[in-house]
Amino acid sequence: MWVSKLRYETVIGLEVHVELKTKAKLWCGCSTQFGAEPNTQVCPVCLGLPGGLPILNKKAVELALTTGLALNCVLAEDCRFDRKHYFYPDLPKGYQITQFYQPIGREGWLEVEFADGPRRVRIKEIHLEEEAGRTYHLPPGPDGVAASLLDYNRSGIPLLEIVTAPELSSPEQARVFLEELKAVLECLEVSDAKMEEGSFRCDANLSVRRPGEELGKRVELKNLNSFRAIEAGLVYEEGRQRALLAKGEPLRGEEVRAWDEEKGITVYMREKEQAADYRYFPEPEIPAFVLVGDWIEALRTNLPEIPLEKRRRYREVYQLATADAALLSRRKAEAAFFEATLQYYQGGAQTVANWILGELTRLMKETKKEVADLPFSAEDFAALLNFQDQKVISSKIAKAVLAEMFRTGTEPAAIIEQRGWQQITDPSAVKMLVRETLAANSSAVQDYLGGKQKAFAFFVGDVMRKSKGRANPELLNEILRAELERCRSVGNREYQGDKQ
Ligand SMILES: [Zn+2]
Repeated sequence: MWVSKLRYETVIGLEVHVELKTKAKLWCGCSTQFGAEPNTQVCPVCLGLPGGLPILNKKAVELALTTGLALNCVLAEDCRFDRKHYFYPDLPKGYQITQFYQPIGREGWLEVEFADGPRRVRIKEIHLEEEAGRTYHLPPGPDGVAASLLDYNRSGIPLLEIVTAPELSSPEQARVFLEELKAVLECLEVSDAKMEEGSFRCDANLSVRRPGEELGKRVELKNLNSFRAIEAGLVYEEGRQRALLAKGEPLRGEEVRAWDEEKGITVYMREKEQAADYRYFPEPEIPAFVLVGDWIEALRTNLPEIPLEKRRRYREVYQLATADAALLSRRKAEAAFFEATLQYYQGGAQTVANWILGELTRLMKETKKEVADLPFSAEDFAALLNFQDQKVISSKIAKAVLAEMFRTGTEPAAIIEQRGWQQITDPSAVKMLVRETLAANSSAVQDYLGGKQKAFAFFVGDVMRKSKGRANPELLNEILRAELERCRSVGNREYQGDKQ
């Protein structure tokens, strides 16, 4: 069949490297703080000097186990490490300590809501290993000599590698999966998961095949430094491999290619190594040890609600709009603030979500602040929304009150009182304002009576200006309409206002 010849399937598997959030490195007490002066957070152990003995950081194992539990992995009964040999200047020992024969977790899954519905993506394994240092390549100086600088601050930071089964079928799916995984890691507080600081990195393996055929030769893509780069790099590579297949020139060997962000292409780096190239063997300096069931059960009990569960609860229990539930479930602090506010708020949950994702997020972005920096409580925030619902203030004034709460931390009731921002809900007061406006704009009144509907909004605006936004909008509309009808009945005489 000619159709099947033209159709291809894309198969993507991901290898995600996550720096675990420990204070000390994996084998020594050096700090893991990001951004320090180069080579100031090092010691004989993480510099790989002869005689340095590694001592395992228990916290790193705990964070790896927590991740394994959340990713539904089968956890290893004992914990072992192996040496992976390769030579590179940022790896001073000449080998990396990793877990090859017995990863800490295997056969897990993460459920992800893709565009075409939810699906479990299988996690092949997760394993603990150490970070390498960092190499900075400098361009040639005036003497024409290029140089490379090495920083070992990162050397020995605990790293968790998460490997998916090759079952993502498009670049978009790969991105959506990674966004979900990042949200899970943030929610578990096992990693900062910041792509821009390198604490969340991804290599992707992509191959294409005709349906029903065996997996094609893989290309490993590197240098994918943002979610956008991941998707764009995979889209390019998918197209390149399909074009080769269409020409009858499938890949001869497996290779590693780098994404060139500027040129928008992938560039050949080297042939892909096979496991045998690394001469793995068990690490003799770290004895294997048993992972106690009680410890794991305690970690399981303390697992927080993962984003997917939270999203479903927000949709089902609070009837939040799908997009809002998705946004909130991925922002842990905002979600906690949302739920705390609901305890004091008498209105609907969607209103709270709208305010948090709208005005509050806008203020926080503008001032580069986070929920933890807010100078007011969820109770105050709920009080503000209650004032709005009870029509003590209009929604426009509510925004102004929030801005002041944000700036000063003052309670909303005090702000409204001090500023005299209560809504005018007394009909006779509103009527007076309306009549003033109509009397001062008699030609606009004639226009309106002549059919120019737009004048109505002008009158509303004028009254609002005069009342400094305090006139109750529904009352104003109602009274304005009635007064204009009164003008019509008075005839085409010039409107003089109320003379009674
Ligand atoms: Zn050290």
